[in-house]
Amino acid sequence: MTAYDPSNIFAKILRGEMPCHKVFEDDVALAFMDIMPRSEGHTLVIPKVPARGLLDMPADALGPYMQRVQKVAAAVKKGMGADGLTIQQFNETAGGQIVFHLHFHILPRWEATSLKPHTGAMEKPDVLVANAARIRAAL
Ligand code: AMP
Repeated sequence: MTAYDPSNIFAKILRGEMPCHKVFEDDVALAFMDIMPRSEGHTLVIPKVPARGLLDMPADALGPYMQRVQKVAAAVKKGMGADGLTIQQFNETAGGQIVFHLHFHILPRWEATSLKPHTGAMEKPDVLVANAARIRAAL
């Protein structure tokens, strides 16, 4: 399996070397807004453990991390007033992964509204700020 590369962009966000629109953080995970959202309120949840994908995530760290994924997902649904959620996680380039630090995508969904393309248009910062505030308020 390919080794974890600490120069990936999410590792830089974890180290505070890159900014993000933060939604949640504790000792296990960090959640922030996706800058190219596929739906309004698209949020990413990443573990603090340096794992490239699901398969190299230490098994004993997976449970606590998934608890945070669930907690943030509930806040995304409530804060964004969504009808449902799509949750995605990609592994390796062939699996659609672009950033090689494990992350789950939390995508709020509304009836009869399609997802935008993966890594499509950049969202305006003020929209990301407003959505992050709505989700934080629902935590
Ligand atoms: P993937 O690795 O295929 O799951 O996709 C990586 C996701 O990270 C995409 O949805 C990007 O829009 C998102 N992304 C890339 N860079 C950043 C960043 N600096 N801040 C927030 N989201 C990002």
